[in-house]
Amino acid sequence: MIARPSRREFMGLTAGAVAATVTPWFSRTVAAVAAADASNADLIIINANVYTVDSRLPKAGAFAVKNSRFIAVGTNDEIKGLAGKDTRTIDARQMTVVPGFTDCHNHAGGDVLLYEVLVGNPFEVEFVTIASIVDKLRAKAKQTPAGTWVSGYFFDDTKVKDKRELNVHDLDDVSREHPVVVQHRGGHTSYYNSKALAMAGITKETKNPPGGTYDRDEKGELTGRVTDTARAVFNKVGTRPTLTPAELERRSREGIAHISKQFVRYGLTSVHHQGGDLAAIQDVRMRGDLRHRVSYEMSGRVLDSMIASGIQTGFGDEWIKLGATSEHTLDGSFSERTMSMSQPYPGSKTGYKGNVTESQEELNAWIERVHRAGIQVNCHANGDVAIDMYLTSVERVQKLFPRADARPKITHCTLINDGLVARIKALDAIPALFTTYAYYNSDKFVFYGEEFMKRAMAYRSLLDAGVHAAAGSDFSPGPFAPLMGIQGMVSRKGWDGKIWGANQKISVADAIRVNTLHGAYASKEENSKGSITPGKLADFVVLSADPHTIDPEKIKDIKIARTVVGGNTMYEA
Ligand SMILES: [Zn+2]
Repeated sequence: MIARPSRREFMGLTAGAVAATVTPWFSRTVAAVAAADASNADLIIINANVYTVDSRLPKAGAFAVKNSRFIAVGTNDEIKGLAGKDTRTIDARQMTVVPGFTDCHNHAGGDVLLYEVLVGNPFEVEFVTIASIVDKLRAKAKQTPAGTWVSGYFFDDTKVKDKRELNVHDLDDVSREHPVVVQHRGGHTSYYNSKALAMAGITKETKNPPGGTYDRDEKGELTGRVTDTARAVFNKVGTRPTLTPAELERRSREGIAHISKQFVRYGLTSVHHQGGDLAAIQDVRMRGDLRHRVSYEMSGRVLDSMIASGIQTGFGDEWIKLGATSEHTLDGSFSERTMSMSQPYPGSKTGYKGNVTESQEELNAWIERVHRAGIQVNCHANGDVAIDMYLTSVERVQKLFPRADARPKITHCTLINDGLVARIKALDAIPALFTTYAYYNSDKFVFYGEEFMKRAMAYRSLLDAGVHAAAGSDFSPGPFAPLMGIQGMVSRKGWDGKIWGANQKISVADAIRVNTLHGAYASKEENSKGSITPGKLADFVVLSADPHTIDPEKIKDIKIARTVVGGNTMYEA
């Protein structure tokens, strides 16, 4: 049968022929409009193995698209009947089709990918040699005036063939005339050469500042590794490559266009951007180079001006929409082992429990200001202590200033317990958990141990409780490939063959729902996105194999054959 659009879905529409028809005879009117429209579809997909992520019709063989939206889903025969003279037909040759994937947490800085030296692989597990890092940076130094910074990006300390830390001597081999820095992809640690340390006035006698370290070896010599707040002094020294405002604008634009291409290459059709250049995103769209839909998450100046001018979450259109705030940070990092926990870190001799970066009072004030302005709150909370603080603050503000359907977003929400899960459910809070970490970062879980990992990235516990757990890659710290994420959710097995927290495994169907419908729910767009349902935006992905039936350890290798956004093919293999 053809799935008929429900009244509720059509009420979610904001544009097109059906938007103004909210009347007591609504359903019948819509059916008539839909039928008239359907006679000459723009696009039909036939001979497909379609997983709709819509429980009313979970499987189908074909569907039709018109005016950027799905208009009918059903069997080959039913859908073929909707073809007119202008209809384009795609024969999927039994390939699998799923709704377009959504990444709910992404620092989408495409300009780094385009213009900077990448010393690690941003997208896949790849081991590099320290010699290759030195060579790349040396080549860059040759083109750079002395005294100007030479920088490398996407370093991962556990993806080095040499099996040792990068150090100051390696970077001295790059240059003694230039300050040199290598940034860890996790964003909390950096590695400097002697010239950079000298320019910043750091010696082995320098004391560590609060919230940061200048690492030293057993002999007390500087290793070159510098963590968190201790890195601030380096921002004040040396020359940075100078760019004119026009060049900066161009880089921003080209960066967005570039990463947009990468997103659709991996099957992402919607991405929640952590800030970035909003004007550039709009320019890229005007030029026709935006291939994915943006939920823009704001902070600082943009957030302040929204509050001042009364602009709320949801402002914008189906391509660029203002979403939740960007992550308001409450604690440290999971991959770099600084998140706040109620128990000491396993093996810690000092009883270290991680870093809380804000007081409850400061947090309450921030939440109150944003929540009262009608903007969806979003905090970075990894450890159970930070998650508890965040929930406490939202519970408080909902009591004082109740707001229906607030859906507070919890970025990472890594370490849970039963009490936290119950409170998350009660608030309808939306955790955006790490996705590719289970596969990509399995080499770091040994620092936490199995007891801990049973409660970490806890998709199973959260879904069982009825929470709309969503996917948040956190790129650049983690790769953003949704299929790598799904493989990790299903198998909990890392690239190194180690399994951590197998109790948190979820089914392929659930993992797809997490990456599609729940992503749409996270930005309050479930009425227009997240499933292959008549009336919703025609965003979908054609896969070369069916993740439900393939060996779960090969899911990440399934090829994206085609990515379609609003009925337009944005990527084709
Ligand atoms: Zn982040």
